[in-house]
Amino acid sequence: MSLYDSLDQRFSALIHGSARLEQLWTGGRWTEGPVYVPSARHVIWSDIPNNRILRYDEVTGSAGVFESPCGHHNGHTIDAEGRIIACEHGNRRVSRLEHDGQWKTLADRFEGKRLNSPNDVVVKSDGSIWFSDPTYGIDSDYEGFAASSEIGASNVYRLDPADGSLSIVATDLVKPNGLAFSPDESILYVSDTGATHVPGHPAAMRAYPVSGNGSSLGEGRNFAICDVGLFDGFRVDRYGNIFTSSGDSVRVYAPDGTLIGRILTPEGVSNVCFGGPRRNRLFITATTSLYAIYVSTGPAGFVPPTV
Ligand code: MG
Repeated sequence: MSLYDSLDQRFSALIHGSARLEQLWTGGRWTEGPVYVPSARHVIWSDIPNNRILRYDEVTGSAGVFESPCGHHNGHTIDAEGRIIACEHGNRRVSRLEHDGQWKTLADRFEGKRLNSPNDVVVKSDGSIWFSDPTYGIDSDYEGFAASSEIGASNVYRLDPADGSLSIVATDLVKPNGLAFSPDESILYVSDTGATHVPGHPAAMRAYPVSGNGSSLGEGRNFAICDVGLFDGFRVDRYGNIFTSSGDSVRVYAPDGTLIGRILTPEGVSNVCFGGPRRNRLFITATTSLYAIYVSTGPAGFVPPTV
């Protein structure tokens, strides 16, 4: 199987022809939520049905359990202080791993009603935390604990860094899932995996203009449609390209919405993150495994060291 499917010459500047896809670990049921922790030089990710967080040590190449049970974690990201922010299906909350090792609840209710099961999360440069809240963690006992939705809708929320208040920023997705900002934070991309509940619903990644002095969203539009599987989680590189999960590959979309290439994977992809000391290693959670491949780009806002 060929590794790359190059569809546009812009793709070649982002990859290394000689790079190889490495399988770093396997043995999960459904892996998702990777985040690179620079100070620890490890990647942690979720194995949601098995109710555990896993860790890959990039220095030794070893992998193992970081925490189990863990509240059926799903998505993770990191804030400006280097703290891990988590979406927990089981505890139906967004939490933060404090420097003392304790998970602290940041949000678990909206207007007194329990959240469904936060799925994925991103931190904006102003410290606000934006997350999706579909029902996958309460639909059954597989990825959390079966329950009915108290809110009755699957929304995208913004957690205010100053007072901890929650506000709804998007209501027009059937099942909002992965999310990420463009490098200048003028656009929030959100994937909609609503086809899991509404047959034929477009497997869309939507793009919303950030408005309201950076605290709300304008009217969204479909940015891209996935034709194999669904867009789940994704990351944006420093040039604004979107490296996204799909059923058969990591797909790369230019900021203009063009699919410029694919990194083909043996398993369906759930999410990716940039890592390594130079942030040029793309870690990929794909169904049962963690993979990695070196790329020629990295996340916005990071300047690689020169020595
Ligand atoms: Mg997800």
